[in-house]
Amino acid sequence: MNGDYLELTDVRVTFDGFVAVDGVSMTVLQGDLRFLIGPNGAGKTTLVDAITGLVAASGSATFGATQLLNQKVHKIARLGVGRTFQTASVFEELTVLQNLDIAAGAGRGPLTLLRRRSSVPEEVEEALEIIGLGDLRDKQAGVLAHGQKQWLEIGMLLVQNARVLLLDEPVAGMSAHERDETGQLLRRIGAERTVVVVEHDMDFMRSFATSVTVLHAGRVLSEGTVAEVQADPRVQEVYLGR
Ligand code: ADP
Repeated sequence: MNGDYLELTDVRVTFDGFVAVDGVSMTVLQGDLRFLIGPNGAGKTTLVDAITGLVAASGSATFGATQLLNQKVHKIARLGVGRTFQTASVFEELTVLQNLDIAAGAGRGPLTLLRRRSSVPEEVEEALEIIGLGDLRDKQAGVLAHGQKQWLEIGMLLVQNARVLLLDEPVAGMSAHERDETGQLLRRIGAERTVVVVEHDMDFMRSFATSVTVLHAGRVLSEGTVAEVQADPRVQEVYLGR
């Protein structure tokens, strides 16, 4: 492991003069399972949009030596930064294996998709194991349960060699069992990667976060362990005080 980490310095995003992200600085280490929380409108999604090239931003966001802000979306993906959205975007007509194969082959050119292979590429096999869908590899993605689709989408980032994963409410709509499975999955992938989870589910956060950043009105309100941010009176005020 190279010990790279995600470092944001004074990130700012404005929409027509409205400041949605107002000078956010934070560092997420490899092996960290960082939860990004905060009330609606705090700027969480916009911050992730800035890191993944969907909106323009000022300041700096680096992973290793690479500047991520204001780059093209596909370039950021190639730099090893992957993202999921609340609604999983998998190819429903294709099997689990084909979905992973397409993601893995995105950089290899279209011919790989047409070739019939007798063996499954190593990175795809590894991803299947990590996301726990090995037994369902030949199932159509469209028939998977909601949670399984989310895991498949995470697997698609893994085969693209994502080193930084930004996950938007990965457990929204999941059963308690699926939430727990997802937490275990995030622990497995987080051990060797940098993971940021935007989340509203506080129970899930308490169970799995190794660190938490609380955003409020575009700024970092509090940061620390779960216990530290929960004990922070400013956090209590934002969540309970109104
Ligand atoms: P969160 O994800 O924490 O709920 P968002 O990042 O979605 O917050 O939104 C932060 C603020 O920026 C909100 O006030 C929202 O209305 C505003 N905002 C987000 N996207 C846009 C946009 N494209 N144009 C104008 N305002 C936006």
